[in-house]
Amino acid sequence: MPAPPVPRVTVIGSLNVDLAVTMQRLPAPGQTVLANTLAVSPGGKGANQALAAALSGAETALIGAVGRDQHASVALELLRGAGVDLTGVATVDGPTGTALIQIDADGENSIAVVPGANALVGVERVRGLGRLGGVVVLQGEIPPEALDTAAAAVRATEHDGGAPARLVLNLAPVVRVAESTLLTADPLVVNEQEARALVGRGGERASTPEGAARALVGLGVRSAVITLGAAGCLVAEPGSPGSSDEPAELAVRCERIDAVPATPVDSTGAGDAFVGALAARLAAGDSLRHAAAAGNEFAARSVTRAGAQASYQPERRAR
Ligand code: ADP
Repeated sequence: MPAPPVPRVTVIGSLNVDLAVTMQRLPAPGQTVLANTLAVSPGGKGANQALAAALSGAETALIGAVGRDQHASVALELLRGAGVDLTGVATVDGPTGTALIQIDADGENSIAVVPGANALVGVERVRGLGRLGGVVVLQGEIPPEALDTAAAAVRATEHDGGAPARLVLNLAPVVRVAESTLLTADPLVVNEQEARALVGRGGERASTPEGAARALVGLGVRSAVITLGAAGCLVAEPGSPGSSDEPAELAVRCERIDAVPATPVDSTGAGDAFVGALAARLAAGDSLRHAAAAGNEFAARSVTRAGAQASYQPERRAR
């Protein structure tokens, strides 16, 4: 029997440092308030997803950039500890991507994000990677043109005689990408709000996750996963073709997969936990359905603990 393939995941995406302050009330414009606590932690969707993939057993590489500043080491620390290959993380002039997060006593927040080094992960950088292999994961926190270039590189592997790469596209936030990028995604992963934004507001199709998923796959997206928070997720794939005059949307198989019950403490980074674990399982050869179930499981664990990357770590000792 041939040896099972080494699950290989390449994440091309953002690295940030999150600076979170808690306070009684968010300041109004022009107002100064005293904050209670300050937490400095690693974040960025690319980094979060790479960590989740590595902790889910995939050999994982992260392609991105940090600034020449004191935040870079914070952004990289947990990734390094989990054995993520960071040789593709460039150090560039200017700041490391930074999220300034203000949280009030009701848990309401306001966030300002400085893209910093992430804005420099562009087309040239992606072109320089050469042939992509395994599962390639993208999100919306690097320039959209770089996403299109990476998707084109994935498509090119489908015709060069080697093992084709597979694209997991997490369009969060929703940015404008080429239609061909959307149609390369297998799967496209979005949450409910993002799905609605993609399919178009107001339309009947977007009023349920099933409607949105059917619309996306009907458009030609190879597969779609919509995350549903505490309700788990929805997986949509093309079904067997019906009669030629049947609308494409009807030939879509949709399946909901319930969440793993959890007592939520902090859902920051749950979506990224889901995507990273799903990518790792796809790279290991699982079906999309099984990979999505593994995403639910990893993400459920992450919501029971504070923070994003900190909540992904395995339990150190039994209670
Ligand atoms: P995002 O954080 O990107 O908006 P969701 O809120 O849809 O994404 O959450 C992503 C995934 O995290 C869900 O698909 C689910 O697997 C898991 N999850 C989120 N909230 C809970 C919860 N309260 N209990 C169990 N799992 C959860």
